[in-house]
This record gives sequence, structure tokens and C-alpha cells, in this order.
Amino acid sequence: MPLLKRLPRALRSSQSWVALGVLAPIGMLVISGLLLLDLRRDAWERAEQTSRNLLQVVERDIARNVEVIDLSLRAVVDNLSASETAEASPKLRQLILFDRAATAKDLGTLLVINENGEITVDAGSLPPRNGSFADRGYFQVHKGRTNVGLFIGQPVVSRLTGERMLPFSRRIDKPDGSFGGIALGTLKLSYFNQLFERIGLGRDGAINLFLRDGTRIVRHPDGEADVGVSLAGTPNFERFVREGSGAFVGTSVRDGVERHYAFTQVGDLPLVLNVAFGTAEVEAQWRIKAFGIAAIVLALCGVTISLSLLFGRELRRRTEMHAEVARLSQTDALTGLGNRRRFEDAYKRAGMEASRTGKTLSLLVVDADHFKRYNDDYGHAIGDEVLKGLANCLGQSVTRPGDLVCRVGGEEFVLLLPNTDEAGALRIADEVHARVSRLAVAMAGIAPGTVTVSIGTASGASQAEELYARADAALYEAKVAGRNRTRSAPAETSERIGDRPIRFVEV
Ligand code: GH3
Ligand code: MG
Ligand code: MG
Repeated sequence: MPLLKRLPRALRSSQSWVALGVLAPIGMLVISGLLLLDLRRDAWERAEQTSRNLLQVVERDIARNVEVIDLSLRAVVDNLSASETAEASPKLRQLILFDRAATAKDLGTLLVINENGEITVDAGSLPPRNGSFADRGYFQVHKGRTNVGLFIGQPVVSRLTGERMLPFSRRIDKPDGSFGGIALGTLKLSYFNQLFERIGLGRDGAINLFLRDGTRIVRHPDGEADVGVSLAGTPNFERFVREGSGAFVGTSVRDGVERHYAFTQVGDLPLVLNVAFGTAEVEAQWRIKAFGIAAIVLALCGVTISLSLLFGRELRRRTEMHAEVARLSQTDALTGLGNRRRFEDAYKRAGMEASRTGKTLSLLVVDADHFKRYNDDYGHAIGDEVLKGLANCLGQSVTRPGDLVCRVGGEEFVLLLPNTDEAGALRIADEVHARVSRLAVAMAGIAPGTVTVSIGTASGASQAEELYARADAALYEAKVAGRNRTRSAPAETSERIGDRPIRFVEV
């Protein structure tokens, strides 16, 4: 409730409007800032979710294809050991060893290679094509070690078809456990390219498949030159291997672009897959939106601030104007002293204050003697000059901040002196006489001592509202007694003035 009561006043204050004009834009800025941060977080969450989904889909596709190849290789190794296979005709042997999966589009070759590196059974040709594979890395690995399981070699260019391939191989053991060659299946790198091509990753986006040792198998886009390049030891790749799967923002060693990487191991294979997109692109859409919103909000803030400042200034002007009008309405235009209205307001307040505190209030009524003569002898303008001179004398006769001098009639003035007793009032009256005696109006030849005033004073606390009448009566006495003097009203009585004759005391 007090707040509601204070509100209308607060709305009239220019400071309130200036404060509102500053606080409202700050509020707008804070809210828009939070909103933009939220939008940015949304953009990132969407992008991250998208790359996680992509990663999952691609990883599953690759893992399934590798599984198909591995199943074929296992079948070859298992079936070779059966004695019937060795006895079968080459055509039948080919049928036994390779199921239909071996002819899948993305599969390159599916071969049985003997311990000398020569093709003995070829899924793609009867009789088998000629070729020596003894120098291939995967061949050497199986030759040198047992129990390697499925081995994924470095990407190679096929000696049979000239296409880029990723070789998968399993060791074939002879009955005595010695090295009997390998079963080799290859996956065309074009398979990966086709798979990755379907994925839109934006301008800076990329998708990479690595061997666990850091060798890049394929990169989309612009992959040709990247095949076979090792990224072992680079910070990003270290992290792929160390963490297995996850996401982070890092800078590419390849082109220095900052990207968000989502990465995972493919199944339980020694393959690392990552989907990356440029961080700048994630925020590009958001940035456009952010610039738009920021521009609008800033413009609105500017307008709000300007309007509030203008409104505040207008209010201030109005307040100042009201104050000036109020001041003028209480000011005497000729002398600049307070006028009768001012005196009446102050008199009422001072009277109440005196009654409340019991402190004596004194009032001096000052009237110029024979003033009419100045007008008659020198003209009205000179009369005015005398009045101004008198106003100065009166103003200079009082010193306390609470004292008030007003012109309440043509050539009649009052001095209201709070917290001043009769002795104090008489001292001020003496000061007035002294100053008036020095007053001269040179242009009219009015010499010092010419102008005189009569003063009536009254002091009291409990019946302050009677002061004026008492002082005025004292003034009358001063006039009657010959002018240019002060008369003091007798001390206030418990009865009202007028109940018995007023007696004035000669000073
Ligand atoms: P007394 O000693 O009895 O007070 O005589 P007085 O002539 O001063 O008193 P009276 O009341 O008869 O005349 C006052 C004169 O003051 C009348 C008028 O001509 C003059 N007067 C009043 N107001 C102004 C004013 O604003 N300017 C000028 N120049 N004269 C004024
Ligand atoms: Mg007079
Ligand atoms: Mg008079």
C-alpha cells in the first residue's frame, strides 16, 4: 500500500524516469543476452545430436559390412581345413569356400593365398588370377604370428583391379599348425566414399575413418591425398584412441579449422570413426539471428533511453517552472522581498511552531513615515526607489536564516523573527532605524537622515496569532508619538487582547 501511494509521486519525478530509462534497457539487455545464450546452446545441442546420430548410423553400416567380410573369411578358413575341400574340383572348391556374400558390390576380392603369397582360390575368377602377395604387410603379419585373428591392413591399391581397397585377412594354419597362407577379403574404399557422400556436413564438415595406429583410411570430402596419411601422435587422434568414444572441440592439424568432433571405435574393431563439423558453421545461423535481435534490442534501448531522458528533462523543466511560478506568486515584484501571501504562510507556520515549542516569536511592523510626500515631491518613480532602499535596509538588518522580511502593503513591511524575544526584536528595530538613517537616494537629492520609519513590535509564544494586531497597534502608537521610533506591545496576557485597553511601553 505505501508503495502504491508513493507511485504517483515517483512517476512525477524526473529522476524516476531517468532511472527507469536506464534500468529498463539494462533489463532488456540482460533478458535478450540470456535468450541469445539459450539459442546458442540450442544450436550446439542440435548439432551435437545430429553428429552423434550420424556417427551411430555410419558406424553400424561399416561394422555390419566388416562382419560380413569376416564371416566369409572365417568360412573360408574353416572350410579349407575339411578334407573334402582339398579333394573337390576347383569349381566345387570355389563354391564351397565362398558364399554369395563374397560377390557383394562393395567387396573387392576374396582370395585364398598360400604360404608363398600366391592365389590358390579366387572368388572372382576361375582359374584364379595370378598375383603375388608375399610382400604385403598383412601377409607378413600372419606369417610371423599365430592368433592374430581378423587383421585389418593399411589401405592398398589392388594388384588385381587397381582400385583402392582396405584389406581384411585371417591366417590359415596347416594341420601341423605351421603357416599355410591367408584368407583375404577387401572392401573397396569407394564404399566409404559413397556412404559418406550421402551425409551433408556443411562447408567445414568432415568424416574420417582411421586405423587404430593412426593411418587415415578415408576422409570425406577431398579424401584422395589423405588416404594412408598417419595422424598418430596428433592431439585429436590421441584423444580418439584414449577415450574410445565421445565428443570435443579441437583444431584440425590438417587445415587448422576448429571443429566439433564426435568419435567412436567401430564395433570392437581397430577402427576409429569421427564426424566433424566446423564450429563457425554451428554458430553461423545463430549469429545471424543474434545480430538481428541485438540490433533491434539495442535500437529499442536507445529509443527508451532517449525518450526517458527527454521525458525526464520535460518533467524537470515543468517542476522548475512550477517552483518559479510558486516563488513569483510569493514575491514582491518591486523589492524582491516576500509579499503578503508569503508572509501570511510563514506567519501561520511560525505561530504554530511557537505554540508547540514555547519559543518566543517576534514580529516587527515597519511603516515609512510620511511616505506620501516622497511621491508628491519627487514622483512615483523616486517613491519606488525609496521603497527599494528601505527593503535593502530591512534585509540587511536581519541575519538569521529563519528571519523573514516581507513587504505587506504599499510602504509597510514586516520582519518575522522566530525564536527571538522582545529584547532581540528591539535590537533589530534599532538596527533598522540606524540603517534607514543612512539611506539616501542620490538621484533625487534625498540625503541620509531624510527617510524615517516607525516600528511596532510584539513578542510572544502562546498567542502568536495575535502578534500582528499587537504589533500594528504598537506601530500606531509610534506614529502617534511622533514617528521615527519604535513602540513595543506589552507582554501578552492570559486574556485576549481587546478585552481590556492595550498599554504600550515607551522604548
Ligand atoms: P504615515 O507617516 O502616517 O505612514 O504617512 P504616510 O504618507 O506614509 O501614509 P499614507 O498611508 O497616508 O500613505 C502611504 C502612501 O504610500 C500612499 C501611496 O502614495 C504610497 N504608496 C503606496 N504604495 C506605493 C508604491 O508601490 N510605490 C510608491 N511610490 N508609493 C506607494
Ligand atoms: Mg506611512
Ligand atoms: Mg502605511
